[in-house]
Amino acid sequence: SDVGSQKERVVTEEEWLQKWEMGNIGFHKEQGHPLLQKYLHVLLNGRSGLRIFFPLCGKAVEMKWLADMGHSVVGVEVSEQALKEFFAEHSLPYCEEPVPGISGAKKLQSTSGNISLYCCSIYDLSSSIVGKFDGVWDRGALVAVNPCDRQRYVSLMITLMEKNSSYLLVTVSYDPNKHKGPPFYVPESEIKSLFG
Ligand code: SAH
Repeated sequence: SDVGSQKERVVTEEEWLQKWEMGNIGFHKEQGHPLLQKYLHVLLNGRSGLRIFFPLCGKAVEMKWLADMGHSVVGVEVSEQALKEFFAEHSLPYCEEPVPGISGAKKLQSTSGNISLYCCSIYDLSSSIVGKFDGVWDRGALVAVNPCDRQRYVSLMITLMEKNSSYLLVTVSYDPNKHKGPPFYVPESEIKSLFG
């Protein structure tokens, strides 16, 4: 089948770290994502002071946007370089601390306190460590997850959501026989069955 061509594909953490080291980060959007601007009202739904989660955050500038609007931002990313570049590029002072319960992980937190970025694999997180969220911005996250890990990823995301949270998901539509990904092709039918 269409999707069969990508089912067995795996991009390792090492490969992601290497992409950051090589500056091979075509996915990063300097100007932020127009779809977040377009659907911001859906994410916020008239609420203020939300906790917003950025899975597989890279150095997404949208984290700064939401923090500047008064929300509290939490991200997770395996590349420490990405997180350091985020703070440096926005001239934000931050401090680092270990994360109790995740060996080898670090939390980089803006001195102002409203941006906390975990340097570890998302699969190491749980709601007892990061709490639950009112909103999720999933861009370059589900579509970057290895196809074999999708259900695990989505099940975890569901445990991190508050009752009335909103989840904005960006996917990419293309012919998976012509491109090996990432981003991987995640058809809408699969999104429906993953999230239930
Ligand atoms: N969401 C960001 C980055 C998308 S690229 C944006 O919109 O720009 C996917 C990112 O996920 C990469 O930075 C990669 O280093 C990171 N990543 C890949 N696997 C991960 C994992 N298991 N846990 C946390 N981060 C991961």
